[in-house]
Amino acid sequence: MAGSGFVGEEIRVESPDVVYTDTDILSYYNYNDSRIRGNVVTPTTERLVFKTQRQLPKTGLLLVGWGGNNGTTLTAGILANKLNITWNTKEGLNHPNYLGSICKSVTMRVGIDDRFMPVYAPLNNVVPLLNPNDLEIWGWDISSVNMGDAMRRAKVLEWDLQRQLYSNLKEMLPWPSIYIPEWIAANQSDRADNCLKGTKLEMVNTLRQNIKDFKNSRRLEKVVIVWTANTEKFAQIRPGVNDTADNLLRSLENNSSDISPSTMFAIASILEGCTYINGSPQNTFVPGCIELAERYHVLIAGDDFKSGQTKIKSVLSDFLINSGLKLQSVVSYNHLGNNDGKNLSAPETFRSKEISKSGVIDDVVRANRLMYRADESPDHCVVIKYVPYVGDSKRAMDEYISEIFMGGRNTIAMHNTCEDSLLAAPIILDLVILAELCTRVLVKRDKDEEFTKMHPVMSILSFLLKSPQVPPGSPIVHTLFPQRYAITNFFKALIGLPPENFMLLEHKVP
Ligand code: NAD
Repeated sequence: MAGSGFVGEEIRVESPDVVYTDTDILSYYNYNDSRIRGNVVTPTTERLVFKTQRQLPKTGLLLVGWGGNNGTTLTAGILANKLNITWNTKEGLNHPNYLGSICKSVTMRVGIDDRFMPVYAPLNNVVPLLNPNDLEIWGWDISSVNMGDAMRRAKVLEWDLQRQLYSNLKEMLPWPSIYIPEWIAANQSDRADNCLKGTKLEMVNTLRQNIKDFKNSRRLEKVVIVWTANTEKFAQIRPGVNDTADNLLRSLENNSSDISPSTMFAIASILEGCTYINGSPQNTFVPGCIELAERYHVLIAGDDFKSGQTKIKSVLSDFLINSGLKLQSVVSYNHLGNNDGKNLSAPETFRSKEISKSGVIDDVVRANRLMYRADESPDHCVVIKYVPYVGDSKRAMDEYISEIFMGGRNTIAMHNTCEDSLLAAPIILDLVILAELCTRVLVKRDKDEEFTKMHPVMSILSFLLKSPQVPPGSPIVHTLFPQRYAITNFFKALIGLPPENFMLLEHKVP
C-alpha cells in the first residue's frame, strides 16, 4: 500500500516501561478498562508486568492422529518448506509457503511513521516466535500406515509434490495409539491396526514413556501435543468420575469406561508438562482435566480447529448484527468425502460437531438486547453429509436471513469449496507457535513479588478454534476480529505498546 511502512527485523521499543535483557523482555503495562455499576462507569487501570523469554526453545510437536489428512498434510507441508521443494502442476511451478498461518503470513500494525502513515510488522518481529521449519514432528495413529502412504491415502497434495516427499515420509511410522471403538464411529474399525493394549492406566503410562523418549532422543526442551485424530462422541460429566482432578485420576486407575482416548492423551500430556491442544469438537477437557492442568500449570487449548465455515459465520453474524440487521436464520450445509466426513456420518460423532459449531453466534446475539430479547436467538441449523467423491475438498453452503428496515428481508447465500486440510494445517501450526509463546510469558501485578504463568486455559487462541475453551467464569468470544485483536494486542502488551484503537486521531485533530 502506498505510504505504508513495514518493519522487516526484530522491533525494539524505546520506553522507560520496557526493558530488554539478554534473556527477557519486561513490559510495565497499563491495562485500561471501565467498571460499571448501574449506569455509573468508572475508568480503571491495572498496572501489570509481562516478562517474555526471548530465547526460543528446541521444540517438538506430537500429533495424535498423525496419519490422517491434517497430520500428513502438515508434516509434508513443513518438510516441503524446510527442503524448499518445488513442484509442477498444469498451472506451472509451485513454491512451498505458509499461507493460512497468521504467524507466518500476516502483519500487524505497530504504529505510525513520521508522516503519520501506518507501519506494519510480521508477528515474529514483535516477539520471537518459533519457526515451523525447526519443529521436530512425530505422532501416534491407530492406523499403522507410514506417513508416505498416509499422505497418498489423504489425496490432498499435488502428485508431483507427493512424489518428491514420499521417500522421507515413508520412514516415519506412527506409534500405536489408544483405540476404544465406542468413542469414534464404527466405520473407523477397518483402519485400527496399530493399537495399544492393556488397562487405561497402562496405556497412559505408555504415552508418557513415548513423550519422554521423544524429548530425550531429540534433546528437546519443550513438546506440544495436538489432538488431530477423529472426532469422538461427547463424554458424560459424572460426579465422582471426571468432575475433579482426583476423581479423574482415580477413574483412570479404575479403568473407567467414561474416560475417552482424547482425555487420556490430555492426562499423559499434562503429567509430562506438555501443552495440549484439542483440535476436534469433543469435550476432552472435562472439569477434572481442566483442574489437572491448573494443578500442574500446564497450558491447554481447544476445541475444534476453526478453518472455514465457522470462521465465515463468526464474521457474517458480527457484520449483520452489528450493522443493525436482525439475523433470524442461519443454515449451514457441508458435504465432504474424507475420512473425517466418514467418521462424522455416525450420529454421536456428528452431535459433537453440531454442538461445537452451534455456539458461534451466541456472543454477538447476547451483546445486543436492543434487537434480541434475553431468551431470543436466531434459528441455527447445521447439516453435515458424507459424499466420498469430493474427498478432502469440502463444500460448505450457508444461508443467512436477516430482517431489515421496515419489514424487509435480506438473504445471503454462499458456496465455499476448499481442501479442508490445507486450511487446517496452518491453523495447527499457529496453535503450536502461539501456545509455545504463551509458555514463555510470565505475568504479575506491579505490586506483587513473584511472576506467575498465565491461566492454563489459553483463550488467547480462540481465533483458531470453533468452540473456544476459556478460564472458568470467563466470557467466550466467538467473533473473529475481536479474537484476532486479542492476539495482536497481547503481542503489543508484551512490548509495552497500547492496544490498537483505530481512531486515527493524528489525522483528525487539527
Ligand atoms: P482424518 O480422519 O483424516 O484423520 C484422523 C486420524 O486419526 C486418522 O488417521 C485415524 O486413524 C486417527 N485416529 C483416530 N482415532 C485415533 C486415536 N484414538 N489415536 C490416534 N489416532 C487416531 O481426519 P482429518 O481430516 O485429519 O481431521 C482430524 C480431526 O480434525 C477431525 O476430528 C476433524 O473433525 C478435526 N477438524 C478438522 C478440520 C479441517 O479443516 N480439516 C477442521 C476442524 C476440525
